[in-house]
Amino acid sequence: MLERLTNHYSRMIEFYGNLGQVDRHEFSWHAIISSKSTESFALSVSSMTFNEEEVSLLLKAVQFSAETHKTQRRKGAEGSPYVNHPIAVAETLWRVGGVRDLPVIIAAILHDTVEDTETTFADIEEHFGPIVRSLVQEVSDDKSLAKLERKLLQIEHAPHLTKGAQQIKLADKISNINDVAFVPPAHWPFERRVDYLAWAEKVVSGLRGCNPRMEELFDETMTRARMRLEAESPEKEAAMQEISVVDQGELTCEHPI
Ligand code: ZN
Repeated sequence: MLERLTNHYSRMIEFYGNLGQVDRHEFSWHAIISSKSTESFALSVSSMTFNEEEVSLLLKAVQFSAETHKTQRRKGAEGSPYVNHPIAVAETLWRVGGVRDLPVIIAAILHDTVEDTETTFADIEEHFGPIVRSLVQEVSDDKSLAKLERKLLQIEHAPHLTKGAQQIKLADKISNINDVAFVPPAHWPFERRVDYLAWAEKVVSGLRGCNPRMEELFDETMTRARMRLEAESPEKEAAMQEISVVDQGELTCEHPI
């Protein structure tokens, strides 16, 4: 426990040190790192609050994401602003996953900016530092590759991502399968939605162990999603058992809605 938390705070020091925004010794949790008592250390962490610099960066990320996604809408019937999605992913990490690693939360807010907008990894690094850039890079597909290859690579890469990137990926899949089931893109046929769920499950199988509480939410969401699809089209129930995503003629999109 102590080692894990110390690693967490060491990473935070590196994060802010790289940004050059504050003196790394100014952090209130510096004393916590030096603590010899695991119990008091954990207690202090549980009551930790973010300081001004941390809140500023968080808000900057929300603003950056909203600005870069401003012309985009989710493909669901509601046509909600695209930025609702990365905000939901970050909120799931925070509330369900208990993630308190600020670079991970910020990277979640920014996770689709490079893949889906003109933003570059250099832009991310310039504004949010190399750790956030690295996390965003880990969870971004290489758009120069064919869709099929990108989807297969997601399955292949999932077990090898850093823990922060795995958590973002897991929260992303929770958001997407929920939307595919309950507010699907109007033009998606039933089979494509079934196919997306099967593929997402394969990706998540490589993320297991990164965050049990979010994994539980993923499983619950997947169960509800499949029940919804079964209710929509009982005669196609057999299709729900389909496990191969590569046999389908048209591949689903990583960011479908
Ligand atoms: Zn996403």
